[in-house]
Amino acid sequence: MAGSIRLEVVTPERSVVSADAQMVVAPGIQGEFGVLVGHTPFLTTLKTGIVRYTDSGGQEHFVFVSGGFAEALPDKVTILAESAEISDEIDLTRAKAALERARKRLEEANRQEGIDRHRAKAALERAMFRISLKGG
Ligand code: ATP
Repeated sequence: MAGSIRLEVVTPERSVVSADAQMVVAPGIQGEFGVLVGHTPFLTTLKTGIVRYTDSGGQEHFVFVSGGFAEALPDKVTILAESAEISDEIDLTRAKAALERARKRLEEANRQEGIDRHRAKAALERAMFRISLKGG
C-alpha cells in the first residue's frame, strides 16, 4: 500500500506481526517514539512494554514486546524481540502466576542475599504489561 509503513515484529521463534501500518508507536529506551512513513532511519533498544500501530483501515492494535530493539526505515519498522505476543495469544492465568512469583521473589530479596532483584523486577514488569494488555 502506498504511503504506509510495513511493520514486522519477530521473535527467535516466529513472526508475530506482519502488517501495513499508518503509524507505529514503540517504547524506546529513551522514551516512546512514533514512526510515520518517511521517518529518518534509526535504530534503538526497546523497553519492555507495548507497541501500538494503526492499520490501513485506521484501527489500533497492541503488541506486547520484551527484550527487543527496533529498526526504523522510511517505509518499514522491524522489531526483533525476545518475546512478543498479541492480546489473543496472552495467557492471563500464566501472566498472573508470573506476577505473583515475581512479587514473592522481590519480597524475599528484601530479606535475603542472593536473590536477583533486577531479574525479579524484569519478570514483574513483563507480567504487568501482559496483564494490562489482556485487560486483566
Ligand atoms: P513465565 O514466567 O510465565 O515464563 P516470562 O515473562 O518469564 O513468563 P518470557 O521469558 O517473556 O516469559 O517468554 C518465554 C516464552 O513464553 C515466550 O515465547 C513468550 O511469548 C511466552 N509467554 C510468556 N508468558 C506468556 C503468557 N502469559 N502468555 C502467552 N505466552 C507467554
